[in-house]
Amino acid sequence: MVIAIIAHDGKKAEMVQFLNEHANILHKNEIILISTGTTGQKVKNAGFEVTALLSGPLGGDAQIAARVAEGTCDMVIFFRDPLEKHPHEPDISMLMRLCDVHDVPLATNPSTAVLLLKGSYCGE
Ligand code: PGA
Repeated sequence: MVIAIIAHDGKKAEMVQFLNEHANILHKNEIILISTGTTGQKVKNAGFEVTALLSGPLGGDAQIAARVAEGTCDMVIFFRDPLEKHPHEPDISMLMRLCDVHDVPLATNPSTAVLLLKGSYCGE
């Protein structure tokens, strides 16, 4: 199972908290994490293995969108900050659209991320 994790700057602390709170699920199962560049650095600092792609504004979201389209990404957890403007908004929209096109589970806030992860790894 390949899970993409992305967090806008205003949500990176919540993203790390989410990882720590679900470390047992994430470590115990065969989950491969991929992420955008700066998010990936935080994920690594929190003690998780991750493949960090380009930073979001430089094309990282587009790289993850490509993996969704190719069928090599099974879930996207995207801690979006709806109160900030983002120069790469078109890439973000593309990623969310492709999740819908290919029916890939997409969480855009922490509460949904918890439900998706717990739904996939019931009872853990
Ligand atoms: P970042 O990108 O992880 O490089 O900050 C996230 C984003 O803005 O999409």
